[in-house]
Amino acid sequence: MVNIKENNQKETKLEKVEKQKQIKKEQYTRKIWDQIKEKVKIPDLVQLKNNRCECLQFGNTTTPSCQYYEDSETLHCHKCKKTMDVIEVYAVLNNIERSEAIKKLAKQYNIPFGNVDQKQIEIEKKV
Ligand SMILES: [Zn+2]
Repeated sequence: MVNIKENNQKETKLEKVEKQKQIKKEQYTRKIWDQIKEKVKIPDLVQLKNNRCECLQFGNTTTPSCQYYEDSETLHCHKCKKTMDVIEVYAVLNNIERSEAIKKLAKQYNIPFGNVDQKQIEIEKKV
């Protein structure tokens, strides 16, 4: 009985360490997209008129369906109901994966990429 309890406590400690490691990793990797978002703004990538533009994926035949929100640095498309941050905008414009967009933007804007691997990039939550 005592042994089991001890084992459980050990596991919990180990889990705690793992969790902290994961949090550190996330904090480190999150920095990259935070840095990207600091340097690159949506109007740098798309041409806006009255804070609006055409649907990035499908274009528009009538009125521009994308609305730019400066406060949140997002672009919302009323046509495809998609809300995009600057990374997503870049990914859609270049028809590449989000993880690829992060890599390319980091390179383009001279943001140190560090030891971030694919797996770490993918833990980023989408907008
Ligand atoms: Zn759209």
